Amino acid sequence: MSARAERYLAEIGITVYKRRGLVAAPASAQSELDSVARVAAEPPAVVAPAEAWDRLAAEVRACTLCALHKTRTQTVFGVGRRDAELLVIGEAPGADEDRQGEPFVGRAGQLLNAMLRAIGLPRGEVYIANILKCRPPGNRDPQPEEASLCTRYLTRQIALVNPRAILAVGRISAQWLLQTDAPIGRLRGKLFRYGDSGTPLVVTYHPAYLLRSPLQKATAWSDLCMVKELLQTRA
Ligand code: URA
Repeated sequence: MSARAERYLAEIGITVYKRRGLVAAPASAQSELDSVARVAAEPPAVVAPAEAWDRLAAEVRACTLCALHKTRTQTVFGVGRRDAELLVIGEAPGADEDRQGEPFVGRAGQLLNAMLRAIGLPRGEVYIANILKCRPPGNRDPQPEEASLCTRYLTRQIALVNPRAILAVGRISAQWLLQTDAPIGRLRGKLFRYGDSGTPLVVTYHPAYLLRSPLQKATAWSDLCMVKELLQTRA
């Protein structure tokens, strides 16, 4: 591990014990990693037209499909590189995001930024979106009907970004994207494929959870190493 990575890890509160290399993915995940590497390494075939993004953003801004539009300050569309290699998908905007109109800008967002920096991907290099584009009042969990109605927008964002990998952040995001009710402890640390495109998908803990349970940061770090390895692998 480079001194820089060690510095970043110290910054997010992970004690580094000397290892010989990156944290290895679990054996089963490793073979899956190898098998999807060729798919993941292929560059996007087409560049998404700006008009498609503009149209989608306008639709989200005007959305009244579910009751959340009545309580939102504004919609939270997504942010980052439209041609990012990594798409990070969280759950839903919280109070800070609702106020600022941008995902992951609160304390959890700061930690997410530091974790991404630690794998060499500053916030501006990835695309960040949520399952829901509007804040559920009182920070309650998204309801399945809300996720269902909102998914049409996320699906189009995924198609437009056409990322090489998706990082599902937190239980709600992981369970929704993978259509499972398996606990997050069973989903993280493995490699999945998303949708018809078969985009590699890795699950990790939500940074808000990591702020409450700092001992899990090392586990989340191994998930991020898996993402990094995936993105570094060339066919
Ligand atoms: N938590 C999320 O899942 N998304 C945000 O944008 C902020 C907090």
